[in-house]
Amino acid sequence: NMDVISLGELIAEFVRVHRGVMHDVADLYMGPFPSGAPAITIDSAARLGLNAGFIGVVGNDDFGHMIINRLRRDGVDTLRVIIDNDSITGLAFVAYDQSGSRRFVFNLKWSSSAKLTPSLINPDYFTGVRVLHVSGSTMYIGKGPRDACIKAMSEARRRGVLVSYDPNVRVELMSINDTRELFLNSLRLVNVLLISEEEVNVLMGGGGALENAIKLLNKGPEIIVVKRGVNGSFAVSRGNQYHEEYAFEVNEVDPTGAGDVFNAAFIYGYLKGWGINQILKFANAAAAIKVTRMGPMEGPGGINEVLELMRKGKQRGVK
Ligand code: ATP
Repeated sequence: NMDVISLGELIAEFVRVHRGVMHDVADLYMGPFPSGAPAITIDSAARLGLNAGFIGVVGNDDFGHMIINRLRRDGVDTLRVIIDNDSITGLAFVAYDQSGSRRFVFNLKWSSSAKLTPSLINPDYFTGVRVLHVSGSTMYIGKGPRDACIKAMSEARRRGVLVSYDPNVRVELMSINDTRELFLNSLRLVNVLLISEEEVNVLMGGGGALENAIKLLNKGPEIIVVKRGVNGSFAVSRGNQYHEEYAFEVNEVDPTGAGDVFNAAFIYGYLKGWGINQILKFANAAAAIKVTRMGPMEGPGGINEVLELMRKGKQRGVK
């Protein structure tokens, strides 16, 4: 029986080697790295030790095989990953400007990832599953992937499977207004909302993250977890219970994927029944390890690495 399943885009990602070099000039990219927000979360969950499975589509090309092989090697069930002969695996190119903010070039709307449809969601796959994790980024690719996510979430809720959701806003794929509408409409199907501070403020139309998170508690989720980059994370749950943990001090190399690794670690701790502060600290540590490495899926190889950073590492702001 699966602990956690997910669905969505499987991507080959290329990362600029030099900071401050954007996509409009000739310079080095490193990669391909296996990527795709929901794939990063599921692969990280498997490496932490959860039974994990994935539903998605790749092309019958070297990138597609690279991603499937990687998921398999890490223990993810890939029986429901389709290899499609008539499309090419999704692509992403990432560059950081001098301030560390990020620009993406995506080929997703015309890729294998766009071929995910509700017909690929077999409700039998949900039997005995404990968590379904959905990334909003999948929904922005097109109608097929969007309907597949909604079907998956509905089937999960019908069966008492916990739904975790990260909106993973992608302005390159969908306008903020459309993203906001989709987000607000999806919330009734969500148990655990995992969201970045920037996203919660943009989607709620300004204001502070805590105030916005509290507002969202009335719209479906039983817990709202807000990721704050170098400032760590906080969570609010029903009854306005507030918990926060500082980030770990690490050398930032490539922060892309940190949020998705955080999600995997949060799901891990939540399933173990840990206290919320312990879960946040664990997830901050797992994400911090990811930040130190090139490649979005290159986070912690196992739970011991995370526990070691929790023991030996320093949290910013904690003496
Ligand atoms: P992404 O979309 O790139 O996957 P995100 O925007 O969803 O990430 P962030 O808030 O940037 O999420 O990062 C997620 C978590 O990673 C943070 O809550 C924090 O624990 C950790 N983290 C991110 N950046 C750093 C950093 N520079 N140092 C330490 N921890 C970090």
